[in-house]
Amino acid sequence: MNVADSDRMELLLSQSGYARTQDKERADLVLVNTCSIRDKAEQKVYSLFGGLRPLKANNPEVVFGLAGCLAQQEKNKLLKRIPELDFIIGPDCIEEIVPTVRQAAEKNKAVTLAEFDRENTYSIPLIDGPRNPGASAFVNIIKGCDKFCSFCVVPFTRGREKSRAADEILEEIRQLVAMGAREIILLGQNVNAYGKHGLQKPVAFHELLYRVAEIPGLMRLRFTTSYPRDVTPEMARAYRDIDLLANHLHLPVQSGNDRVLDLMRRGHTADEYCRLIDHLRSEVPDIELSTDIIVGFPDESDSEFADTLKLMEKIRFSNSFMFSYSARPGTPAASFPDTVSGPVKKERLQRTIQLQDRLTRENGQRFVGQIVEVLVESLKFGAELEVEYKGRNPEYWRVTFTAENSRVQPGDMARVKVEEVRGHALRGKLAVQ
Ligand code: SAH
Repeated sequence: MNVADSDRMELLLSQSGYARTQDKERADLVLVNTCSIRDKAEQKVYSLFGGLRPLKANNPEVVFGLAGCLAQQEKNKLLKRIPELDFIIGPDCIEEIVPTVRQAAEKNKAVTLAEFDRENTYSIPLIDGPRNPGASAFVNIIKGCDKFCSFCVVPFTRGREKSRAADEILEEIRQLVAMGAREIILLGQNVNAYGKHGLQKPVAFHELLYRVAEIPGLMRLRFTTSYPRDVTPEMARAYRDIDLLANHLHLPVQSGNDRVLDLMRRGHTADEYCRLIDHLRSEVPDIELSTDIIVGFPDESDSEFADTLKLMEKIRFSNSFMFSYSARPGTPAASFPDTVSGPVKKERLQRTIQLQDRLTRENGQRFVGQIVEVLVESLKFGAELEVEYKGRNPEYWRVTFTAENSRVQPGDMARVKVEEVRGHALRGKLAVQ
């Protein structure tokens, strides 16, 4: 989400004359985008701006700005602790980046933060102008979150769920495809809650998928991140019906224990999650699944943690994003007594990572010896005439393969014979076309 937000701000700024520089000494504007989903973001920002201070001493005209969830949440504190800061802008207001920078450049401190008013319709104006989306492009379809999981700061920094008009989404995708994008990743904090709020003409999430899939030239479609209780039978069905919908679902489970899930306010049990997966697999037997896990939630016991390992082993995720719990200011869980010590959290995290490494390695074996379709995203020149290409297969595995120079270009769909699983990626060679 932050990568997409940063791209959007860069695009808007580029239209008003700014260009990205690799040389910070030459910058007229330093813009730092932040995430506050876990702790440490704040400390990182203090040390980052500490390091940037000499730029301001050399050139008092340079504008320093801070964007993202940390800005939204810690506004007053940040402005006080970092006197060099000229503006802050919340994640819900990135469309206003240009006037915000302009105001700050005129030496007026600017603060652009959201009120999170659900009544406003949510629109992202299309941008005409130079744009190179690459082979795979993000498209925001819904923002905010209504779920209020007890550990999570998102509803407080990005506001309530609001969907973007389907016609606007379809038009943006048509433009991106015309500019060379081959894959679209639909984005939302709760992407599959699309259509529930903020639309004048109601369109359900699965209906949007069918409509996007009809866009000529689009070769692959993904979406992230889904919330288990918003997975519908129609959504599962869409995987079967829509060929270009990639064979992968990222579905955060967080814990495998019912008491912990209840304290997290996820709204489902471990068994309900497993039954959802059974249903999905009955529609799409070889669908690849990945997830998010939190270990060391307040008061999580050894045996409750063991339930998470059991669930991982049962579902056999291809990949997990694994986090050690950290209290976020203003969330309900921040006031729960946290009895799990730092070293125990660390040890639990290590154990989940080890388990996931094994599951990844084992899951990857099913591709060895097979030919997979890889959307090529980038290339690197190696020794001699061989070039190393990187991309993803439909199951969202990273695939690295070699081929003779100029046989393949980024944006191509290449057929690759997989030879081995290395780390979390597949390696192979271009198959004879
Ligand atoms: N909307 C998504 C999550 C987005 S945040 C969902 O709930 O499905 C990405 C991940 O960060 C979460 O899934 C969770 O695993 C992790 N996370 C969120 N808050 C956290 C916290 N306070 N401590 C540790 N991990 C956290």
